[in-house]
Amino acid sequence: MKILTVLGARPQFIKAAAFSRVIADYDGLQEVIVHTGQHYDQNMSDIFFEEMGIPLPKYKLQTGGKTHGAMTGQQLEKIEEILLEEKPDLVLVYGDTNSTLAGALSAVKLHIPIAHIEAGLRSFNRKMPEEINRILTDQVSDCLFVPSLGAKNNLLHEGVDENKIFIVGDIMYDVSLYYKERMVKPNWFDALNLNNFILCTIHRAENTDDELKLLNIFKGLGSSNKNIILPLHPRTVNKIREHNITVPNNIRIVDPVGYLEMVWLEVNSDLIVTDSGGVQKEAYFHSKYCITLREETEWVELVEHGFNKLVGYDAKLIVDGINVSDSQKIESSGIYGDGKTAKKILDIIVSTFNHQ
Ligand code: UDP
Repeated sequence: MKILTVLGARPQFIKAAAFSRVIADYDGLQEVIVHTGQHYDQNMSDIFFEEMGIPLPKYKLQTGGKTHGAMTGQQLEKIEEILLEEKPDLVLVYGDTNSTLAGALSAVKLHIPIAHIEAGLRSFNRKMPEEINRILTDQVSDCLFVPSLGAKNNLLHEGVDENKIFIVGDIMYDVSLYYKERMVKPNWFDALNLNNFILCTIHRAENTDDELKLLNIFKGLGSSNKNIILPLHPRTVNKIREHNITVPNNIRIVDPVGYLEMVWLEVNSDLIVTDSGGVQKEAYFHSKYCITLREETEWVELVEHGFNKLVGYDAKLIVDGINVSDSQKIESSGIYGDGKTAKKILDIIVSTFNHQ
């Protein structure tokens, strides 16, 4: 059986690490990876393939750095050519990026079955490009692998056939468990001379593209007077320059780090502050409280269980959230499965589609 995986952005490389490792243990399965080039810098792309042992993509496209329409359109055209050439039995897509949508659309039009990992998540904010990508991808997918009952219910409300939905837990939990044993302290860390720190990431377009929101976020982080390490996404770097924002001096900006270093920072932080979907879950996996710089989240279970607080981009809510939650410990309680999600997914795929 031939599985063609379409990926293109950092969180997808990280998820693919778990899946590709499990595929390698199955006889008679071949995975062809298409990298759309949505993320292309060394520290946003290549480092993950190198340090996480993800098989190198057979196809590497160059569709990054474009508007949403141009990027998705080019991906659609090029992935279709590849599908016609490769004739896979199944197309596998992850998450909610433009690459996810382009992979799914090109497959459905050629009548190739689609498996969507991390299906059913909803923020109910249709201004987010990610929300549109996941709704449309879910509508055309044949196997929808969801992390939780809430995600399944979202799909049922949208009319998705229940027989196509599988609750399997979260594949990022597999990755977190595996790499916690292999985490690496960043070589610049000791030079910062910090006894404790808060780990922060900011990259969502809804925060970076709006000057006032980004300004308020830095104001809130600055007023906390805590040591904050901020590995900064290229989009945010550009926006800080464009909006001429002065970064408060309790914040240490560093380049984006590889996954092994990211896990070390998460595990050793006192608190995590983020607008990332993946980092909200990793905070929970590593028993850290999370302050989320958004007004809504797809990972509602974390808020409901009191592990995550939504503070949006209000400077006062951010600083209050940080002061109340700093060093607060939480107990991980199996909300997103048992860390064997990749194997469950592959077993279902093989029993559903491997008829040759
Ligand atoms: N991440 C990383 N290095 C960094 C920042 C994030 O390896 O400098 C990882 C993080 O641990 C998580 C993933 O990237 O696994 C999250 O990706 P991102 O925040 O870009 O996307 P989202 O999850 O919001 O879709």
